[in-house]
Amino acid sequence: MKKENLWLGKAKENKDELNEICERYKKCLDEGKTERECVAISIKMAQEKGYQELYQAIEAGNPIKAGDKFYVTQMNKSLALFQIGTQPISSGMNILGAHIDSPRIDVKQNPLYENDGFAYLDTHYYGGIKKYQWTAIPLALHGVISKKDGTTVVVNIGEKEDDPVFVITDLLVHLAKEQMAKKASEVVEGESLDLLIGNCPLEKNEDLEKEEKEAIKANVMNILTEMYGMEEEDFLSAELEIVPAGKARDLGFDRSMILSYGQDDRICAFTSLFAMLDTQATERTTCCLLVDKEEIGSVGATGMQSKFFENAVAELVAATEKDSQVLVRRALSRSKMLSSDVSAAYDPLYANAFEKKNAAFMAKGLTFNKFTGSRGKSGSNDANAEYIAQLRKVMDDAEISYQFSELGKVDFGGGGTIAYIMANYGMEVIDSGVAVLNMHAPYEVSSKADVYEAVRGYKAFLGWNE
Ligand code: MN
Ligand code: MN
Repeated sequence: MKKENLWLGKAKENKDELNEICERYKKCLDEGKTERECVAISIKMAQEKGYQELYQAIEAGNPIKAGDKFYVTQMNKSLALFQIGTQPISSGMNILGAHIDSPRIDVKQNPLYENDGFAYLDTHYYGGIKKYQWTAIPLALHGVISKKDGTTVVVNIGEKEDDPVFVITDLLVHLAKEQMAKKASEVVEGESLDLLIGNCPLEKNEDLEKEEKEAIKANVMNILTEMYGMEEEDFLSAELEIVPAGKARDLGFDRSMILSYGQDDRICAFTSLFAMLDTQATERTTCCLLVDKEEIGSVGATGMQSKFFENAVAELVAATEKDSQVLVRRALSRSKMLSSDVSAAYDPLYANAFEKKNAAFMAKGLTFNKFTGSRGKSGSNDANAEYIAQLRKVMDDAEISYQFSELGKVDFGGGGTIAYIMANYGMEVIDSGVAVLNMHAPYEVSSKADVYEAVRGYKAFLGWNE
């Protein structure tokens, strides 16, 4: 199967639309560097398109009808959008799903310390990272500090031109003979990924003689108190995420690519969202799910394994049909889903990791993975042949470019997504998404043509009614 390079066709012919979508996508990447930030900007965009908070709408008691649009968040970290179709919800929905958490480095609960003239924040990384990639680059701090008085302060520092940034230091190469001989997984140990945040001691002051030993830490703490009204104990109830500082950038002389943090899986999340917000009421109820915690197993109240989505569907079925568990189960089992996550794009510099016939190529459109998993498809949702045949027709009819791929060579490794969790409801679901280079690195590479084609493909899926 030979797939045309999008730049030789659609991407070239629709350059203005492509650029408009990619500029919007880059802005979303800049404003959404944590799951909370992604939820906040997604709600804002959804509200502008007439979406209302579901539970408030139900409480208000207005009848729910075709064309109505709702959103539900789970603890401000996961989001579900629904647009009610003309058919009953129990006849099934078309669901787009993606995750909005990305690999990063989290600040520990007792993080602040001083060591030999420097102040640091101690950390614990989140998700699968090559730890050595996160040293010696500018880093920003994003997150929240929740206080005992019930207030929450938003933290976002390191992004503005005149903001300070932070860094995790690495050993100078001149003294690294021993370090360079280590395995890559041990070159930088997890416990050494501490964030450098200060070097200037508090001015000498009679009242502070006791603390003089830790004058640098004390100085930083004073600044934090001034900026965020916090005391050291407030770190206990903070969620602070360390992410690469700076904006998404065009990549290449030809500006054909995007280099940015967090494209796994926000490239699928934002393109799904764009498609959802741009879709008029259809026959089937449509849904866009943006979830947290995929990178650590989809666990917890905000991960896909949580019941928050099922609960929202139950509310909608009760409000539009009747309060019936059977109808809720029908709604879920008759649904069809694209579970979108990034694919590994073929990288000629690491050709050995790929089997070319079954590799995803950049600028060749949406990627479908019949299965994911590792070593014998372990842990995979293996999409059904019949469903794949239907999807091929939907995509071909809408002239969407797509490719079928695997994540690298057999026995080289693998990965998983949220597909298998939704498959538990008995619905048809397949892994799909966009191929990127450098997945899980601080800066990941995508093709603008694929961003454009993903939005088109997702729209075709949402409007599908067989
Ligand atoms: Mn992912
Ligand atoms: Mn990932």
